[in-house]
Amino acid sequence: MGGFLFKNVYVWDGDKDSRFLADVKIVDNKIDKISDANSNSMPAGSTTVIDGGKNTLMPGLVEGHCHPSFTNIGLPTDLGFIPPEEHILLVADNLKTLLDHGFTSIFEAASAKPMLGVVARNAIESGLIKGPRMRAGSPEITVTGGLGDERRRHIYQESFGLVVDGVDEMVKNVRACIKDGVDTVKINISGDEFVSHSRAEMTPMLDEEIAAAVKIAKLFNKKVASHSRSSESVKKAVRNGVDCIYHCDFADEESIDMLDSVKDKIFVGPAFGLVHNSTKEGEKGGITKEMCESMGLFRKFEKCCETYHKIRKRGIRVVTGGDYGFAITPMGENARDIEHFVKYLATCYFVCHRVINVYSFWCPKTISHCCNAVSHYVCFEDGS
Ligand SMILES: [Zn+2]
Repeated sequence: MGGFLFKNVYVWDGDKDSRFLADVKIVDNKIDKISDANSNSMPAGSTTVIDGGKNTLMPGLVEGHCHPSFTNIGLPTDLGFIPPEEHILLVADNLKTLLDHGFTSIFEAASAKPMLGVVARNAIESGLIKGPRMRAGSPEITVTGGLGDERRRHIYQESFGLVVDGVDEMVKNVRACIKDGVDTVKINISGDEFVSHSRAEMTPMLDEEIAAAVKIAKLFNKKVASHSRSSESVKKAVRNGVDCIYHCDFADEESIDMLDSVKDKIFVGPAFGLVHNSTKEGEKGGITKEMCESMGLFRKFEKCCETYHKIRKRGIRVVTGGDYGFAITPMGENARDIEHFVKYLATCYFVCHRVINVYSFWCPKTISHCCNAVSHYVCFEDGS
């Protein structure tokens, strides 16, 4: 029969809120049996016995807002300077880092260049590189002057955005991304604090442009995710049928009502790691308290916490995952979002885990057997 027998491990299965001591038998890369340690322990038979040393065995983590092509950058333009050939190697390195840190599934919130996510996902599926199961995103489709457009009048400058203006350009570019092989189309509906001319509470993308993106994506059975910090951008996302509405920091009561009205269809996620680190640990990346104040980052932190307390009470599904891959949010620290959720958003990971298991079903080809595939279980040493 072969297989493995984990003995002397605590099991946290993602359903119960506490762990329990057990033996776990693995056969054909699946969990065959989990036994209560209080009963007779399982015979080893022909399995290879692994002493778990009373560490915790648990389902693999799911990163709900992941940018594996963000390479611990300081500025968005840093991504534009990396040649594609070098970039894909850096993506592979990030994906291995994520897997080594317990993430066995990721939802790519956007790719820094066309094809990076698609190539990485395919390479993981074929066994060419090691990484989590992955849902590949398009680049961040934005508009002139929006988040991701770093061009100047006198010089062309790549960043992470794919800039389109008007319905025709939106239709053409969404189709092109789908032809590349993306699973999710990402659109930047609102601005962001890090864009001086298009701040987080501005909404530069038109309803017609959003409607066109969603319509094309649906024709190809693809999902749409949005960058929506402003209240108006949340409303536009709901009105036009966006599936995954990220951030929502400044959502007012009306937009929370709108999210509530479609809560069985959508997911939201604050991407809280960047919100947290930019205000509390920004100095290490050159973001001083004065800069935080002038950019409105403290205000965003407070609004984000306030909004997600309301969202939690409405039972709207929230995913963890926090814009890791910036200098102030280094890749590999992604699991810190779990602690942030408990500390600042009063949401236990037990709830989030069930949510993100549902979320991962959006990608049935790669993430459908979350709860019984051994490759989705990770062992953590206590205290690590
Ligand atoms: Zn992001």
